[in-house]
Amino acid sequence: TKFSDLKLDPKVLKAIAEAGYDSPTPIQAGAIPPALEGRDVLGIAQTGTGKTASFTLPTITLLGRGRARARMPRSLVLCPTRELAAQVAENFDVYAKYTKLTKALLIGGVSFAEQDKLIDRGVDVLIATPGRLLDHFERGKLLLTGVQIMVVDEADRMLDMGFIPDIERIFQLTPFTRQTLFFSATMAPEIERITNTFLHTPERIEV
Ligand code: AMP
Repeated sequence: TKFSDLKLDPKVLKAIAEAGYDSPTPIQAGAIPPALEGRDVLGIAQTGTGKTASFTLPTITLLGRGRARARMPRSLVLCPTRELAAQVAENFDVYAKYTKLTKALLIGGVSFAEQDKLIDRGVDVLIATPGRLLDHFERGKLLLTGVQIMVVDEADRMLDMGFIPDIERIFQLTPFTRQTLFFSATMAPEIERITNTFLHTPERIEV
């Protein structure tokens, strides 16, 4: 397959071509088609396999032209660390450069006031670490009832870092009808339990 065979937004295809990518990696070829059909995806893949694009490209395509309302992000990407969240945000900027989608990065070490301003403007893609996201929620500055797509990246590291209760809480704050794209390098019993609880008949892709 080539990227042009996938039903991605032409604006996304243009950005991919500019980045110099020609064909999707196995996780991308496996995850992107069901994601574009609106299905939940359970991707079992390590870092370096191209998993970031496998959730970023369909998310950008699915969000399309809609507009975000203040304090109600349309999609959410949860990452275990600040560094990983920042990398995902950089990837989003590359792939979404020809769209009008907006993003915000919510990580610790940055003032709440600065992040509040971004959230107030309306965000299509909110990229966050779980603790910081819940801090904003508890301050009453953020609503998750508009989330159409929720991504969990590196769930196995979330487990190692003790974030599973936060992830469960965040799932519960988003609509039942959300679409979930969930990635983990391994499937520990605790991860299996979360996916059984919150994903709706996911397409499972293991690379
Ligand atoms: P990731 O596993 O998402 O951290 O991606 C690993 C690296 O592969 C990153 O540097 C990406 O820029 C690169 N990459 C992602 N998708 C492709 C692709 N289809 N072809 C070539 N390189 C890619």
